[in-house]
Amino acid sequence: MDTSFFLAWIKEAATAVQAERDHLTQLDAAIGDADHGANLDRGFAAVRQALADTPPETPGAVLVQAGSALIRKVGGASGPLYGTAFRQMGRALGDAPEITPAGLVTALEAAQEGVQKLGGAAEGDKTLVDAFAPAVRALAQAVQDGAKLADALETATTAAEEGARATVPLQARKGRASYLGPRSVGHEDPGAASTVLIFTALRRAAG
Ligand code: ADP
Ligand code: MG
Ligand code: MG
Repeated sequence: MDTSFFLAWIKEAATAVQAERDHLTQLDAAIGDADHGANLDRGFAAVRQALADTPPETPGAVLVQAGSALIRKVGGASGPLYGTAFRQMGRALGDAPEITPAGLVTALEAAQEGVQKLGGAAEGDKTLVDAFAPAVRALAQAVQDGAKLADALETATTAAEEGARATVPLQARKGRASYLGPRSVGHEDPGAASTVLIFTALRRAAG
């Protein structure tokens, strides 16, 4: 995977977030403050602008730049969280011009660690970690088993979808939804839903 692969990922993610903007906002209306779609759409628009203004030369630079723009532009919790995820990923990739599947796994593990360190959420707290963590785990397993990249990413996306669906019966223990206590039960977590979009975009970038 080269620089253009990672640029394609970001472009696919921005397109998906824009297309699902209202859906993400509806999910956030149920257990939050109805801005998740707007937050991420504004953030990814800024990311695309930043990447167009200052074309990055390495995969790592694509992701560090993307993460920085998200942190800069998104006021909600999701900006710093996704921003940290992309930045940590980018830092893990270093300045290598070509990334192997194993390198991608390591970088995604660093991203997950960054998110959990910043937000303090564990799996089961009804956050984006509930989609992110199983996706990374599934990808790591598939890559270790020698799966083709596209197939490994398909497996990861399915795991993210299952993880997001599994947030429905949970009571939120982190983020704004946790203020609702038991009333957060019965709704999908908006961040888990947007994490599915990020992994779907990664899968698409692989062709
Ligand atoms: P805000 O809640 O500030 O309005 P958003 O609506 O953009 O921010 O994002 C909400 C999402 O952020 C939640 O659905 C959840 O997935 C995620 N989130 C919130 N707090 C945390 C946390 N501490 N750790 C991980 N994810 C979190
Ligand atoms: Mg919100
Ligand atoms: Mg908000």
